[in-house]
Amino acid sequence: MTRRTLSTSLDGYEVWFATGSQTLYGEETLRQVAAQSRQVVAGLGSLPVRVVHKPVLIEPDGIRRLALEANSRDDVIGVIAWMHTFSPAKMWIAGLDALHKPLLHLHTQANVGLPWGDIDFDFMNLNQAAHGDREFGYIQTRLGVPRKTVVGHVSDPAVLVQIEQWQRAAAGLAAARTLKLARFGDNMRNVAVTEGDKTEAQLRFGVQVNTWGVNELVDAVDAASAADIDALVDEYEQLYDVVPELRRGGERHQSLRDGAAIELGLRSFLEEGGFGAFTTSFEDLGALTQLPGLGVQRLMAEGYGFGAEGDWKTAILVRVANVMGAGLPGGASLMEDYTYDLVPGDQKILGAHMLEVSPSLTTARPSLQIHPLGIGGKDDPVRLVFTADPGPAVVVALSDMRDRFRLVANVVDNVSAPDLPKLPVGRAVWKPQPDFTTSATCWLTAGAAHHTVMTTAVGIDVWRDFAELAQTELLVIDEDTTVRGFQRELRWNQAYYRLAQGL
Ligand code: MN
Repeated sequence: MTRRTLSTSLDGYEVWFATGSQTLYGEETLRQVAAQSRQVVAGLGSLPVRVVHKPVLIEPDGIRRLALEANSRDDVIGVIAWMHTFSPAKMWIAGLDALHKPLLHLHTQANVGLPWGDIDFDFMNLNQAAHGDREFGYIQTRLGVPRKTVVGHVSDPAVLVQIEQWQRAAAGLAAARTLKLARFGDNMRNVAVTEGDKTEAQLRFGVQVNTWGVNELVDAVDAASAADIDALVDEYEQLYDVVPELRRGGERHQSLRDGAAIELGLRSFLEEGGFGAFTTSFEDLGALTQLPGLGVQRLMAEGYGFGAEGDWKTAILVRVANVMGAGLPGGASLMEDYTYDLVPGDQKILGAHMLEVSPSLTTARPSLQIHPLGIGGKDDPVRLVFTADPGPAVVVALSDMRDRFRLVANVVDNVSAPDLPKLPVGRAVWKPQPDFTTSATCWLTAGAAHHTVMTTAVGIDVWRDFAELAQTELLVIDEDTTVRGFQRELRWNQAYYRLAQGL
């Protein structure tokens, strides 16, 4: 069997830079267009995804071929288009119609200031993006092309920030489109929100969601060698504060070895199948000795998507969030709104799960512990214990609304937690924006799930771009949200998303 290590890096990706013009202006002007276009691309050199300059486009067939070539390349995750001069937009119809990659329309120009005293008609001929891009905007809107529009000179840091957000969203979508997700067992019995249309998910996000019997995972766990378990136990002792009872010679050391075997088995199963996300179910643990905790936590921190109780939709979000945040401080994790601190004026949400919260949410050294778990009916599971770092975060849920998927995101602030000596799990404590009452009212009104991905690496703007690229509804609860405004948006969306399917 070939095993494939999961990549969660942006390094292998590129986006193409397409410059629009036409033959009208002659060779000399087109040479200048190409040179200035390369300057603009050079100004994008600090972005996390490499921007590759493509030859200036001057006729329809070249545009269409560029789109087809971009479509055929898995490493090309998007196209940036700029109409340096006037590029009559009927030339772009076939190409835009064929393009299946995320598009960013960069409305810029080569120069910052105008050389007022020297402007002649040669200058005007060369620097026409002000109307060339308007022609391009028209045809994109007329064709209904999803895209992000960014306006400004590339020397402006705000322009680069917006392009980076789009690149990260495009990388998330690219990762979803190649994502294989393994479910060990079905979702938790009788739970509604973790159900959903897996066929629609494959069409919308590109994710392949399929189920395996948990005893296939058990076979992989049983195949873990003693030497590999020894090596992994060494790694645990280097990275975490392992409680004495779990250390070598400790009375419960075998439980740590069992946890290590589960991690090794999960990893080998996922690598052999080329999976980037998975789910487990405490109702279906087969011959596993423990509910997978430690291994799941560590795999999420490496970039895998995960959902508990068979929640494959949240597993997709965790994988996408991990890719979108690649290389940035912070991380992404399954999260669950668990319980509230309702002290007036200081309301907070305590989020956790039975075990499965990613240590990528903390910069502190987690503690590796063992405690009983009433749910699942297995041996006591080993788990990492920590609190998420204070700071900005976003929680995002994905619900199946029958005719479409709905993303709901809440911008939140993680805060420091008091000691929780009797709650030995990974957890986060946060204050939702704009305030607890508005946030919870809107969340419930939107039918958003109790499982979320919490991400501390990327903010709401990247999720906005992701939703736009994936053509999926996104409702945002942030500092500007009011209950009445949110209710209106929900009603409008009910109509819009039904109408938009026909547009
Ligand atoms: Mn849960």
